[in-house]
Amino acid sequence: MIVVGLTGGVGTGKSTVAGMFRELGAYTVDWDELARDVVRPDTEAWQEVVECFGEDFLNEDLTLNRQKLAEAVFADDEIRGRLNRIVHPRVVKEDQRITEEISSRDADAIIVKDIPLLYEADLTIVVDKTVVVRASEQTQLRRLQERGMNPADARRRMRSQLPLEEKVKTADFVIDNDGSPEETRRQVERVYSSLRRPVHRGQP
Ligand code: ADP
Repeated sequence: MIVVGLTGGVGTGKSTVAGMFRELGAYTVDWDELARDVVRPDTEAWQEVVECFGEDFLNEDLTLNRQKLAEAVFADDEIRGRLNRIVHPRVVKEDQRITEEISSRDADAIIVKDIPLLYEADLTIVVDKTVVVRASEQTQLRRLQERGMNPADARRRMRSQLPLEEKVKTADFVIDNDGSPEETRRQVERVYSSLRRPVHRGQP
C-alpha cells in the first residue's frame, strides 16, 4: 500500500486530479467529504457543534450551515480551533477505518487522499508521498468565481492558506493544472506510473 497526500490551493483542481487518479485505478479518499459526513445531523459531532455554536448555524433541514460556519471560522481563530477539535479527530478516525479496509482487500493499493489542509494541519508525516496541484492565482480566482464564489471571498480563502509556492517546494510531485484537462491527465499518468514503481514503495 502507498498513501499519497494530494493537496493544493482552493480551486487549483484537486478534485479533478483525484478523479483522474481514480480512473487510473487508485483508491481515493476525500477529506472534505469526510468532514461533511462526520457532522451529519444527529451524530455526536453534530450535537457538539450545535452545543458549541448554537442553532443559528443550522439550515432548515438541520444540516450545518457550512457557509455561515466558514465565515465564523475565517473571522476568528478561537472558533476555528473549537470547530477543528470537534471535526478533525473524527475525520482522522474515519480515514483510518477506510484505509485499513482498503489495505485488507488490496495490499498493493495506491490510496490518494485529497486533503486540502495537508500542510497547514501538519499531515505530511502521515502520508508516504505528497502531490501538490498548482495553478496560477488568476486561474484559481477564475475557477472559484465560475463556481459561484465572489472575488473577495475567493481571495480571502486563498490568503488563509499557506502560499501555494511553499507547498510546491517540498512536494514529491507537482501537477501543473493551468492548462487543458488533457495536459493535466498526462501529468497524472506520469505520477501514477512512478508511484507504481517499486522504488517508491521502499523496496530495494
Ligand atoms: P479543488 O478541488 O482544488 O477546489 P476542482 O477540482 O473542484 O478544484 O476544480 C475547480 C473548478 O475548475 C471545477 O469546476 C473544475 O471542473 C475546473 N477545472 C479543474 N481543472 C481544470 C482544467 N485543467 N481546465 C479547466 N477547468 C478545470
